[in-house]
Amino acid sequence: SGGVVSSTKKGLSVKKVTNADSPNYLFVDLVVEAGAQAGIYPLIIKKNGAVIHTINYSLEARAKNSANRPSYSTKDVIYLITPDRFANGNPANDKVAGMRDMSLNRGALYDRHGGDLRGILDHLDYIKNMGFTAIWNMPEVENDQTLESYHGYGITDHYKIDRRFGTNEDYRELGMKTQANGMYLIKDIILNHCGSGHWWMDDMPFKDWINYGGKFVSTTHRRETVQDPHVSKYDAKLQTEGWFVPAMPDLNQKNPFMQRYIIQNTIWWIEYAHLGGLRIDTYPYSDKYFAARWSDAVLNEYPNLNMVGEEWSSNPIITSYWQRGKVNRDGFKSSLPALMDFPLQNALSEAMNENDQEWGKGLNKIYSVISNDLIYANPDNLVVFGDNHDMSRFYSQVKHDQALFRMGMTYLLTTRGIPQIFYGTEILMSNPKSNEHGEIRGDFYGGWPGDIKDAVTQRGFTADEKSTQDFFKKLLNWRKHAEVIHTGKLTHFGPENGVYVYFRYSEKGKVMVVMNKNATAKTLSMGNFAELIKPGAKLTDVLNDKTQVLGASLEVPAKTALVFEVK
Ligand code: CA
Repeated sequence: SGGVVSSTKKGLSVKKVTNADSPNYLFVDLVVEAGAQAGIYPLIIKKNGAVIHTINYSLEARAKNSANRPSYSTKDVIYLITPDRFANGNPANDKVAGMRDMSLNRGALYDRHGGDLRGILDHLDYIKNMGFTAIWNMPEVENDQTLESYHGYGITDHYKIDRRFGTNEDYRELGMKTQANGMYLIKDIILNHCGSGHWWMDDMPFKDWINYGGKFVSTTHRRETVQDPHVSKYDAKLQTEGWFVPAMPDLNQKNPFMQRYIIQNTIWWIEYAHLGGLRIDTYPYSDKYFAARWSDAVLNEYPNLNMVGEEWSSNPIITSYWQRGKVNRDGFKSSLPALMDFPLQNALSEAMNENDQEWGKGLNKIYSVISNDLIYANPDNLVVFGDNHDMSRFYSQVKHDQALFRMGMTYLLTTRGIPQIFYGTEILMSNPKSNEHGEIRGDFYGGWPGDIKDAVTQRGFTADEKSTQDFFKKLLNWRKHAEVIHTGKLTHFGPENGVYVYFRYSEKGKVMVVMNKNATAKTLSMGNFAELIKPGAKLTDVLNDKTQVLGASLEVPAKTALVFEVK
């Protein structure tokens, strides 16, 4: 306590020094002066006139065009990876001496399996050739937690990649190689909580560093409290200040030093690792004014950066509240550009499983939820998905029905928004035994030496797995260049008897998608769609490249989604 800090080199000056509650911390405000050069700037810390510590503060040069870096958009398809379960590129780092979780057992759902960043780097060509253009990894920073450390959501050091995944340099290599391949690396950011094994839990800088005095009180998960005009203070506080689980202490985002720490950490990773975007975990569990300040600070540095928040609600009223540009009744202004489209995910799953003969059921669910787009400030900047790391795999959601699976995936890749595919979905991975997260996050085929199946070569694949992977490769690579899917208008027609038709169109072209969920072929009378298509139009099926000339009707096979380029 009572430390005096001074800089010994011109270009960096000390503006203010603040003592914390704990004598072991000083918070120092530094000013980088105009014209400062990159290099090492020693900071001298004195106590009672004597030098007790020197910090060699490193001021790094920014990468060229760093501020204006591009980011993921509707042109992209995001590949979501669980790093521990994708590929083990370096068996030497599977266990690291001294870390709390020394498990290593691929047969156990919640033990570590050994996957790492080298494994992802080794598969970069695979991911690119499949047609994915962005990678979102579950968190890679250190999780020195006793149990279930593999998932990454219990941060124990904000500035360090977990050694079982590799090094900070490995992560930067992934960022640079992703960028060099015209792709984006998206970092999973956790604003709300940390891991109970975080180094600061033993000696917190301030008494109010963690909510509820550092003791576990559960959140209620009532996310509507954030916008409910009838909310009680009691419920509002429990929602945002309550903890997720005892192993994840809830950060006090009202503490200005905590705010600065989290904001600087995000900016540091973007710059250091050449990131192309962010995904933010448990967004509505944060203090909303801090969440807005954080987004503003990041966008102030990187105006084009896309950031998608997780708000797991099937109600568009709740998700839309958080999108930048939304005019909210309570006056709250969010600056988060994108949201995960949980309402559409829920509707898609119901659409595939429900009986279309019942009013409002089946495909009507998609029709209905998409018609709610008026509530969003920017419905195109929603990330659409059928499954993710926290829910049953889509193939299991449709009860292992290949035709329904393919219809759902075709929908995601042709509707509005930015599609996200969970690793392994493209090779028909599923979770038939349970909905356990550990089963959902299964090992990717071929990621481990000795695996019988290999996704890169299709070794050991069944005919279904092969054709599914070929289907994704074809559709993803088509979508990459289909500008009309990226920017075209969406017009849809109310589903009739299990058939749903929609168009994407602009001056760049026109695409017609026809979904028939029936167990029998259907003949569509094309007159209903005359505002967008007329007999004589040339239709090219993008999956098999076959062309036909449209007559007065169109034959649609049973349980099929057809995607036509219209000329
Ligand atoms: Ca490893």
